[in-house]
Amino acid sequence: MVEIPLTIRLILAALFGLVFGSLVTALSYRQPRGLSIAKGRSLCPYCVHTLAASDLVPVFSWVLNKGLCRYCGANISWRYPAIEITTATLCVIGMALSTTPEKMWVLLAITPAIMTLAVIDIEHKYLPNGLVLILALLAGAMRWVSDGEVLAGLALASGVVILGLLVDAGYRACMVSEGLGLGNVKLMAVGALALPLEVFIFFLALTTLLSIFFVVVYKCMRPNYEFYFCSTILASFWFCLVAEGFIKTSFVVAFID
Ligand SMILES: [Zn+2]
Repeated sequence: MVEIPLTIRLILAALFGLVFGSLVTALSYRQPRGLSIAKGRSLCPYCVHTLAASDLVPVFSWVLNKGLCRYCGANISWRYPAIEITTATLCVIGMALSTTPEKMWVLLAITPAIMTLAVIDIEHKYLPNGLVLILALLAGAMRWVSDGEVLAGLALASGVVILGLLVDAGYRACMVSEGLGLGNVKLMAVGALALPLEVFIFFLALTTLLSIFFVVVYKCMRPNYEFYFCSTILASFWFCLVAEGFIKTSFVVAFID
């Protein structure tokens, strides 16, 4: 098979990320509003004018139209180019750090799924079960191409779900709070399925540290803001997926030796 040079692969990953970033913006807008992703043309949310293909080129349409609707002049949110550029950047990093072609494909597929869930969590504070299921299937695929230990991953994920449900029930029984939040439990289970045990332990530690950091930052900046952990868990999960090899050689080996 002909080896494609890295530069070409990175450019292709950026283009892929822009196109799928556009899908992330559409899905994260439509899903919480109960709108179908398959049916209906894209419309301007303000004047409801049907958008032409030239209005839908990721990032470029927004820049060319100076962030305004071509038909009514309304401001089009920066969320669109921001999400598209972020997805493209993550796809390029994923491509650069993939250790095998199989992992590369799964990383390219799982990155837009993680982005969609993170955007919906940040904007609407919930995780749609259908998307979590897609993420879980891709997590299983990642484990399959990583070390093949899908059954071990499923066993650990089941353990995480049972433990999470028990802790959640405990919280509710003591009426300490509204509970642990089952979205968090589902994402931790997805992590347990996708990551080898030693990387999963790193994932738990990183998620805890990031969560403490963001809670402190938010408490200082916006004391009344109710912090949700799902997007932090998703960010930690994505990092552990792309940096799996680095985590194994740098941290795990350092602790074991
Ligand atoms: Zn308009």
